[in-house]
Amino acid sequence: MTNEILFYSVILAIINFPFVMAVDWYVHNKPVNVVYKMEESAEQRKREIKNSFVTTPVHAILFAGFIVSGLLRIGQESIALIFGTFVLTFLWTEIWHYFSHIDMHHKSLHFIHREHHLSMLTAPWTSVSFSFLEKFIFSFGILGVLALISQTHELSAFGIFAYYVMYFFTNTLGHANFEFRKAGYYDSPMGKVFNSPTYHALHHSRYIKNYGLLTPWLDKLLGTEWKDVSLVQRAAAEGRPLSNLKEVKL
Ligand SMILES: [Zn+2]
Ligand SMILES: [Zn+2]
Repeated sequence: MTNEILFYSVILAIINFPFVMAVDWYVHNKPVNVVYKMEESAEQRKREIKNSFVTTPVHAILFAGFIVSGLLRIGQESIALIFGTFVLTFLWTEIWHYFSHIDMHHKSLHFIHREHHLSMLTAPWTSVSFSFLEKFIFSFGILGVLALISQTHELSAFGIFAYYVMYFFTNTLGHANFEFRKAGYYDSPMGKVFNSPTYHALHHSRYIKNYGLLTPWLDKLLGTEWKDVSLVQRAAAEGRPLSNLKEVKL
């Protein structure tokens, strides 16, 4: 069991790098529909790459720490338990991320989130550029609540591992400044459930609103969604990107 967990942790500590490198290669070598017709500066890229070495292992260390210590209790792996744990982790992370993210936008806590927002234009490396404390809080909140739940319902280590792998990949895409969904995505049923890269690009360029991680539910419910997200997505997907960070499509 412990060897298995350590094996998962090693993968979690390194797998974000090939994801970022692959997406970074793709956006620079394939014809993509960008959200902002702008290039990240060499200084931004350098800063983000430097930050990635500090922040990417945090999830892996906490994952191993919670499980190996017995704080997060793991049951007998089965398809049902893996699936249930994955969905539970997904739903809780959406809630935890939304409210902790909004809190970090308050003046008193902004020092935690400041590093990530130095990048007003998103790029693949932005997805791994955070302060150590921000990533620690993110994963501690996820795993802490899963640990509490596991006291009465044991969970699947593989389900949590699979969630993190999915999160790393989608978070990289979400910061890649290119729209891979078709025009009108936000009018489709899928677009009502999951965000596309345009969504988070607007959070970085405008600093407020669109706080959601992979879904827009809480932003819609609590009125923190940019109203032109659908128009910006359509324009990007049709090859009419925004030309500067202040542009709106209202
Ligand atoms: Zn933010
Ligand atoms: Zn971001």
